[in-house]
Amino acid sequence: MALSINLGFPRIGRDRELKRATEGYWAGKVSADELASVCAQLRREQWEEQRNAGIELIPSNSFSLYDQILDTTAMVGAVPERYRWHSDQVDLDTYFAMARGAQREGLDVHAMEMTKWFDTNYHFIVPEFVPDQEFRLASTKPFDEFAEARELEITTRPVLIGPVSYLILGKPRETDSEPLETHLDSLIEVYAEVIGRLGAMGAEWIQLDEPCFVEDRSAKEIAALEQVYGRLAEVAGNARLIVQTYFDHVGEAYSALTRLPVAGIGLDFVRGQENVALMREHGFPSEKHLVAGVVDGRNVWINDLSASLDLLDDLQTMVSADRLMVGASCSLLHVPIEAARETELDQELKSWLAFASEKLAEIATLTRAVNDGRAAVADALAANRAALETRQTSDRTRSHRVRERMDALDVGAAGRDTHFEQRREVQRERLRLPALPTTVIGSFPQHPKVRVQRRKFLRDEVSRPDYEAFLEDEVRRAIELQEEMGIDVPVHGEFERNDMVEYFGERMEGYAFTRFGWVQSFGSRYVKPPLLFGDVHRPEPMTVRWWEFGQSCTDRPIKGMLTGPVTMLQWSFVRDDQPRSETCFQLALAIADEVQDLEAVGAKVIQVDEPALREGLPLRSDGWEEYLRWAVTAFRVTTGGVRPETQIHTHMCYSEFNDFIEHIAYMDADVLLIENARSDEELLEVFRDVDYGRDIGPGVYDIHSPRVPPVDELAEMIRASMRVLPIDRLWVNPDCGLKTRKYDEVVPALENMVAAADIVRAETGVPV
Ligand code: GLN
Ligand code: ZN
Repeated sequence: MALSINLGFPRIGRDRELKRATEGYWAGKVSADELASVCAQLRREQWEEQRNAGIELIPSNSFSLYDQILDTTAMVGAVPERYRWHSDQVDLDTYFAMARGAQREGLDVHAMEMTKWFDTNYHFIVPEFVPDQEFRLASTKPFDEFAEARELEITTRPVLIGPVSYLILGKPRETDSEPLETHLDSLIEVYAEVIGRLGAMGAEWIQLDEPCFVEDRSAKEIAALEQVYGRLAEVAGNARLIVQTYFDHVGEAYSALTRLPVAGIGLDFVRGQENVALMREHGFPSEKHLVAGVVDGRNVWINDLSASLDLLDDLQTMVSADRLMVGASCSLLHVPIEAARETELDQELKSWLAFASEKLAEIATLTRAVNDGRAAVADALAANRAALETRQTSDRTRSHRVRERMDALDVGAAGRDTHFEQRREVQRERLRLPALPTTVIGSFPQHPKVRVQRRKFLRDEVSRPDYEAFLEDEVRRAIELQEEMGIDVPVHGEFERNDMVEYFGERMEGYAFTRFGWVQSFGSRYVKPPLLFGDVHRPEPMTVRWWEFGQSCTDRPIKGMLTGPVTMLQWSFVRDDQPRSETCFQLALAIADEVQDLEAVGAKVIQVDEPALREGLPLRSDGWEEYLRWAVTAFRVTTGGVRPETQIHTHMCYSEFNDFIEHIAYMDADVLLIENARSDEELLEVFRDVDYGRDIGPGVYDIHSPRVPPVDELAEMIRASMRVLPIDRLWVNPDCGLKTRKYDEVVPALENMVAAADIVRAETGVPV
């Protein structure tokens, strides 16, 4: 008999109970006991829901107060020295201090670093190791949760982050140490203790996640798997170990993984379809179980059940049914909880959606079909087929007009038709900017009043004219400030936008928005990504009105401000019934219409932001080229239709760019405004080697910090850029938008930035 398995469930609660409880605890309004009881209640509901949905293998220890990697850090006692932790167990306040920093009696520490969990929008707390790092068991969480579930008569499968991935995901404090070489031996012993104890408690299965093996990995890293699981197998007792992977195929690690002395291997068959070919090529060991991830854990659309059953049939030619576990491709942490609850979405669209709860039902249905035949689930299959059919034929997923435009689109020809150098001359003539022109990235502080007014407007407590008059005042003030400070290319400030993707999604056909569709981004921060379900187009201008108002306030050139196609794609749940590249080109055409309209009303400078360009990169490097080709081409489709005298800016942040700077050059933006201040001049290095050949504004200050950078520091940042880039190519600007800052931080910082530009202009004697 095949078994149904679930790898993890959203922790946050249907009404974001976890957020309220943890934030309440941080604010001193919720006691530790109250927090614990909210968490216990959530776990109980989540376990019971999974059991009631027919899931046989239910996880424990997948719940977390903040993050599962941080839980692992607590479990193995890898608390960095600065948190002054000296007890037996990692206590709640030490745990949260690592996550968020702390400022209290005798302790003033910053948080540990946080970074993206693979290519998801979830972020984890990066482990830190020192050369003489010690590990010891310092948390009973895995045991407690296993026992807690058993109290409810639910036997769970404890889930742990595997030790190899844990070390690979961490970062050594001293650059010379290599965590996997230095720390593996001692770390394994803590895991051995945990596994031994869980086995003794009666755990039948224990899952160890090794997602790092879906990325390019060295032979040494792969060999570490053998060392770890050889040892853990010795202590497991009656417990059977599963090594679980997700988010892509396991490539060169396949043979090593399937040779490990463990009972099961988990593979992702949604994003890692090559896993089928790997199995066919190398075979699958007859004594092992296969956790077959066939339901997409990363997206919100219904499964094609009969296609999944075909795949499961195929897998059964290599694995017998009684060694098959049917599940989702990864933990359901990455999707919202329940689509059925979205009563404001229409029935048709809702019938295409499967969030975590609906995915549990799909897993149960698939498992039942494997065991009892498709006839046993005939009704579910028929309903599924009907929904897929409406999705395929609906004119909401397929707009005739959009398709015609797509057919006519010649992506090869997309782009500006003048060379950058030629455009540059006409743009200079027209804009008459000084050397080292100053600009900003787009948003100005979204202070509480802006949010309050927006909320009131959305609740019909403020009329549209009143709301717009309020926004106009904000825009006017932001522009006046920029004029006073001497920003050469000002912006209107984006006050009308709640979020740079949501704002545009709401104004395009093909997008829908949920009410409760929250997904954890990090800690107590959740996001509600839009659903991009159908053919995308833009019925009418989206930003022209705000640009025009802004421009009416000043003689300086106000920048048009748009979100680019790749970022629109990357920060939404995107339809899975056509290639992402195709959806991206539809977005590109829609935003291109806006670019044209802005140009037509007189915008001389238009910025198209692509902060998410890098996060779209496939996990394995062999997919980069293809992705970058269409992603960058989409930008060219968006911006390529303007006249030579119209200056296109783009902005990128959140990441390193050095390894694909040629592709960024191919975007052919006239000006690239790029995050730089936190990179220790690492970004600038690349311009020594690569002739980027266009204008660049490497950010001179980090907007993530409330700190106001002094003038000489900013001047030094500009000089650093001048050491690698010609002065007549350089712009001066912050790292990113100022949305999260306060005016009394922003104003002095920008004043200093302009003063720094003046100083450098003066010392180099360039005409101003
Ligand atoms: N224009 C946007 C802003 O300034 C860009 C935000 C971003 O890069 N994430 O807010
Ligand atoms: Zn940014």
